[in-house]
Amino acid sequence: MTNDPRPGPVPPPTLEARALEAQRRAYAPYSKFRVGAAVQVSGEVFEGANVENASYGLTVCAERIAVFAAVVAGAHRLEAVAVCTEASPPSSPCGACRQVLLEFAPDPAAVTVTAVNPHGERRSWTLAELLPDGFSGRELP
Ligand SMILES: [Zn+2]
Repeated sequence: MTNDPRPGPVPPPTLEARALEAQRRAYAPYSKFRVGAAVQVSGEVFEGANVENASYGLTVCAERIAVFAAVVAGAHRLEAVAVCTEASPPSSPCGACRQVLLEFAPDPAAVTVTAVNPHGERRSWTLAELLPDGFSGRELP
C-alpha cells in the first residue's frame, strides 16, 4: 500500500462552475453587480468577468470578455454559454452580449445559454430564443 499525498485526477469543472469561479474576479466597485461568464468555444472553455470603469460607459460585460478571450486564442465556434450573477432569478445576457454571442454561433438554436446564481438557481435558453431573427454578417455583402 502506498501513501501517495498527491490528489487523484480532478474532473473538469462544469461550465456553470467556471462561471461562478470567474464571478469572484469581477471588477464591479460601482454597481456591485458582479458577473462571471464561461463560454465553450471550439471545445475549449474561456472565462470572463465584468470590468467596470469610473467612466461608466467603458464597462465591459463578462460574456464579451470571455468571447473575446476565445477569439484571441483562435477559437471561433461558440457552443455553450454560462453566466453567473447574484440575481434571483439569474440574469440573462444583455442585448449587446447577445449580439456578440451570435457573431460566433454557427447555429444559434444549438447554443445553450445557462444563467445561474451561487444559490443554485438556474435558467436556460438557446441563443436563438434570446435573440430571434438576430442580425448577422451573413446579411452583409
Ligand atoms: Zn452584456
